[in-house]
Parts: sequence; C-alpha cells; structure tokens
Amino acid sequence: MVCMAAAVRVTCPSCGDQELTSEQLRARVCIDNDQSEYRFTCPECKRVTVLQTQRRIIDLLQSSGVQVDLWSLPAELFETHTGQQLTHNDIIDFHIVLEDDDAFSKALAELD
Ligand SMILES: [Zn+2]
Repeated sequence: MVCMAAAVRVTCPSCGDQELTSEQLRARVCIDNDQSEYRFTCPECKRVTVLQTQRRIIDLLQSSGVQVDLWSLPAELFETHTGQQLTHNDIIDFHIVLEDDDAFSKALAELD
C-alpha cells in the first residue's frame, strides 16, 4: 500500500495561503495542558511559522498524516519554591561574579 501525503492549506503571515503536503507540517501537543500548535516553513519566503490551535485541529492534521509530537511541561514548574524572589540586582551581581574567576571560585567555596 502506498500512503499519499494529503494536501494541507496554511496561511503564511507574509505570503498568504500556501498549499503544503502533510509531510511539510509538524504538530505538537503538551500532554499536561493540551496546548496545541503546528509549524511549517513557507515554500515561498522560507519563514518558519508556528501557530497555536485547538486540539481538534491537531487531530484533523494527524488524520491527514501530519506527524504529532507529544511533550510535557518541565518538572521544575511543579516544584515548591521557597525563599525570596530573585531581583534584577541579584542577576547583575551573579553576572559580575561569573566574569571574575576568583570571585566565582570563592562563591562556590562559600556554598560548602
Ligand atoms: Zn511566506
């Protein structure tokens, strides 16, 4: 059996409507929050476009032969965070420490 790629119409923000094959699109769905999106490279301007959409559209795309990747949110999002929030000054101080090898080593030693 030969599987033919289905034609899928997409809209490039720069060039307008384009017709691609299902193999030229890629979709992904977050299994934690059902966030769904697909992406394609416009055949005219070569711009990559990523569009969020509804899960049912992804299901239709998948039934047309579009590859769908599943992904999950990083585990760090579900960690309990304690302590004070970082400020811009903390980031600047950290940047300064990173540029100074001696200060960076000293800061690491203070953690022990
Ligand atoms: Zn385009």
